[in-house]
Formats: sequence, C-alpha cells, structure tokens
Amino acid sequence: MAASTPHPEADTDNVQAGPISLGIDIGGTKIEGVAMDGGKHLVACHRIPTREGNQAVHDDTVTLIRHLLNQVDPDQGPVTVGLGIPGRVDANRGIVDDAVNLGIRHMALGPAVAKTTGLPVRVENDVNIAALGAASQDGDTLLTPGTTPHSEAARNQARRPASGPGRNGPRALPDRDDQVVAFINLGTGLAAGIIRGGRIEHGASGAIGEIGHIPVDAHQFPCKCGQHGCLETVASGSAVEALWPGIAHPLPDLIAQVSQGNQRAQEVQDIIGHGIALAVQIVALTIDPGVIILGGGMSKTGQPLLDLVTEHLNRSAACSHFIASLKLPDRLRLAPADLPIAAIGAALAGRMAADSRPSDLIGKEIAS
Ligand SMILES: [Zn+2]
Repeated sequence: MAASTPHPEADTDNVQAGPISLGIDIGGTKIEGVAMDGGKHLVACHRIPTREGNQAVHDDTVTLIRHLLNQVDPDQGPVTVGLGIPGRVDANRGIVDDAVNLGIRHMALGPAVAKTTGLPVRVENDVNIAALGAASQDGDTLLTPGTTPHSEAARNQARRPASGPGRNGPRALPDRDDQVVAFINLGTGLAAGIIRGGRIEHGASGAIGEIGHIPVDAHQFPCKCGQHGCLETVASGSAVEALWPGIAHPLPDLIAQVSQGNQRAQEVQDIIGHGIALAVQIVALTIDPGVIILGGGMSKTGQPLLDLVTEHLNRSAACSHFIASLKLPDRLRLAPADLPIAAIGAALAGRMAADSRPSDLIGKEIAS
C-alpha cells in the first residue's frame, strides 16, 4: 500500500485484501475520515476542520475521500463510502435537512458526493453511525478507554476473562442476530441510536431515538424545541453548561466540586445524574436493549460518569423491585474515548449496504 499518515489508530502492519470501506463523520467542528480494509482493520485516518454551507461541506468531504484513497492500494477492491451528518437524514435518498451547525438547510449530500467521486455512497444520521461504530467494538473495549480494537492491549483484553469495574460476568456482546444495542449520545443535545442485529434502526420518519425531547422533567426548563421540561434540558452537555456555567469542561469540574463538599454542585450533579439515569430507563423500558452504551462528548468524563449514572439507577432500584430486576447498571458501557467510532460506523454502514442491499447505496449505478 501507499505510505500512510502515521496515526495511532491505523493498523498498517496487518493489511488485508478486499473491499475498501471509507467512513466520514461530518461534525460541527471537524470532519473525520477512516479507511478500513477487507478485514475491517483501520488502514488510514485523517481529519480536517469543518466549514459551513452546502458547497463547503461537499468540497471538504470529497477532499477527505480523495486523501484517504491516496493512502490505500488502488487494486485492493471496490470502494464504498459511508457519510454521517447531524440533522434529519433520509438515508434512502441521501438527503439531509436542518443540519443547523453546518449551515445546511437542505442538501442532496449523497447524490452530490457520489456524482463527484464516482463512488457509491450511504448517508446516515451522526448518532446512528456512532451507535453502529460503538456497537461494533468488543464488549471490553467499550469499557476501557485507552485501547483500540486491533491493539495488543485490546487483543490481550479480549482473551482474558472480563471483569468491568464493580461488575460481574462477561462483558462481550452476545453475537445473536436479534441482539439490540442502544447508544445514548450525551453531546450538546441528547439522542439515542438503536442497533438491532448489527443494523441501524430508522423508524418510520427517522425520528427514532429522539428521546431528548420527551418532556419528563419537573424543573420545566425551557427547551430549544419549544417545549418545557424536555429530557435534554437535564441530561446533555448543554444542560450541564446551563446549570454549571463558565467552565470549559463543566462535568469533571462539577464532580470534583461535589467531592469537596460544594452544596450547589451536589444539587446540579443530582439533577444531571437523575436526568441521564432517566434516559437510560426510558431506553431500557421502551426497547429493552441488552447493552446500553453512553457516548458523545460527556462520555469522555469516563468512569466518574458511569459511577454517577449507576448511583442514580441504584436509587431507582432501591425503591422498586421491578427496576432492580432489570439490572440496568450491568447493561451500561462507556464508548471508547480514543476511537473515531462515528467514522468507523459510517464505513460499516456503507459496507453493509454494499454487501447485503446494494439498492441502499446512492450512485451504485456509477460504480457498477
Ligand atoms: Zn425539547
């Protein structure tokens, strides 16, 4: 293969032949791309800053695709592209609406990128691809930031009997076709992605998993969606920022202040911990997933976040035999903080469409 950009996550020593899957995660501040080989190893990673507007997003996405293609063997096999983007996504048509942070009101992203690159493209919502990427990781990798799926540490970890902190039993995902994994994205907002049998669930209108706008909270804080008391107002990065303002990384600071006996910090932490535990309960009681992964920016807080949510789940369980019987803390995982899981999920989404339902790809007539 061609010389590759040195990257801690790229496994360039063990390249396998087969189709190349490119995955691009178009975020509000950066566009991150990966290339995977036929064995689903990462062979290249690259990121560039985001610029706003339809044309800029198209141009930057194409630039990143071409950069990644320059780093893989052109004879290795057919190439697919998976794109993840915020906003409402019509995955079957590759169209995105209301990606507000990217300055996009309406854009036929899939058809445009397919036409420019000549490659088949699949477009998905950003939370859905992060869910797919996180669900694809070995159970223990999820709990252990600091490893990559193909690193020596991860391989060793996969071999040894698993034991998460304070938990019992094996952590690996059961590989059943009907296995359901929920991914709760604790980002600026709050939403969940649902993976069933290794595939993204879309629902009837693409609104599946929009749990952030379920009005549940007694504080009745106003929400940007127009309602009051939405779950997002007490269980998201923006909720912590609003309740604990003026700090660059408010959640770690909040938790540190609580440990020093700050009473106001304790009140805010209770609101946030209760809110996220509510999100976990809502997901658990509506779709009953075997695994619930906490991801998004807030998940980078790591074990203290997991401990906080577990504490609040245990409070519910303490007064309800029903809730206790669900063993919700045992289902919780933390998304790996050091892996580009959304870009990995995008690559998997494009590859899965090509392998099983080529009609799901935009521009497949160009490639065939
Ligand atoms: Zn709302």
